[in-house]
Amino acid sequence: MTDTAASSTAEAFRVVKNPNPATDAERAEKLKDLAFGLQFTDHMAHMTWTADGGWGDRRVEPYGPIPMDPAASVLHYAQEVFEGLKAYRWADGSIHLFRPVANAERLQRSSWRMALPELPVEDFMASIDALLELDHAWVPDAPETSLYLRPFLIGTDVFLGLRAPKRVDYLLIASPSGPYFPGGIKPVSIWVERDYHRAGPGGTGAAKCGGNYAASLRPQMAAYERGFDQVLYLDAATNAVLEELGGMNVFAVRKDGTVLTPIINGNILEGVTRKSVIQLVEERDLKVVERDITLAELREGIEDGEITEVFACGTAAIITPVGRIASADFDVTVGDGEPGDVTSAIRQRLTDIQYGRAEDTYGWMTRVR
Ligand SMILES: *Cc1c(COP(=O)(O)O)cnc(C)c1O
Repeated sequence: MTDTAASSTAEAFRVVKNPNPATDAERAEKLKDLAFGLQFTDHMAHMTWTADGGWGDRRVEPYGPIPMDPAASVLHYAQEVFEGLKAYRWADGSIHLFRPVANAERLQRSSWRMALPELPVEDFMASIDALLELDHAWVPDAPETSLYLRPFLIGTDVFLGLRAPKRVDYLLIASPSGPYFPGGIKPVSIWVERDYHRAGPGGTGAAKCGGNYAASLRPQMAAYERGFDQVLYLDAATNAVLEELGGMNVFAVRKDGTVLTPIINGNILEGVTRKSVIQLVEERDLKVVERDITLAELREGIEDGEITEVFACGTAAIITPVGRIASADFDVTVGDGEPGDVTSAIRQRLTDIQYGRAEDTYGWMTRVR
């Protein structure tokens, strides 16, 4: 037993060092002009679960391809769930995570829905610690950059029958990243999708599972072809109520200062950013109302000036102003098409906390190094 194991219920991760890690010069080159999700660090954390033995074989190993049997269940039945969170480098060089336990717990809820085993929160946290112990130099320090962490579970059962897998792998990879939308805080344009839905009652909308995103690509492509950046989905039951974007939650700001966001209804992915934005809006003495918002209310509100700002939020893109919303029968500009005051203030406040420029009054940050 090592001393790291003593302080946690998770066993220690054994280390297999990458024999050919990037040199300092190579890493510096890769950390220049970062885009989102293209570069990866030298190592990855890995655990394996079996129905008989539970979670075990904790290791950190060289980043690279994972050999897999072609009958592995993830390849056939999409038994996959994932998370996304960031490690931020503060001005003093220290490294901090934003509300990581919320991600660990959501990974458990997603896993439950997909009949995958739940990874203990201690193992989730220990896997990040173990990876950053080796790869902390990959946390970039340029403005608006971070080390994006991608934990995920896959069914690796070698069996073509359909069942909850009896073998599952957990991996954690890390990608030094810049802004999700290149080109600064430009408002995005949104196409409201009426022919396809990302989730339905009783479905998997509340789980961060790969299949949801595969299904969103066809409508996303159609929106791109029409010249729009993102898709806004409506509820499958009535096709009239706002749900969310393909990978971000949505908010609307009213002229009277009320801030609206769709209520968590089992179809919507409950964002950690969404939850945090609600607290930051209330901190400004504005009122947040979580309820059903119809497309008609959104559209008319924007047209008559009742709704002055719309923004989307999520870990990858943080807070993104929405400048234009359209569908087959309407096309409206939100406010003057530029980022609104509430949107900009919340974005600033949130990133100030994440990068340690403001005091962490909510206890959201966890120092890892
Ligand atoms: C990940 C995700 C979000 C945002 O969640 P955060 O925890 O804020 O990153 C919102 N919607 C969908 C569909 C997502 O996959």
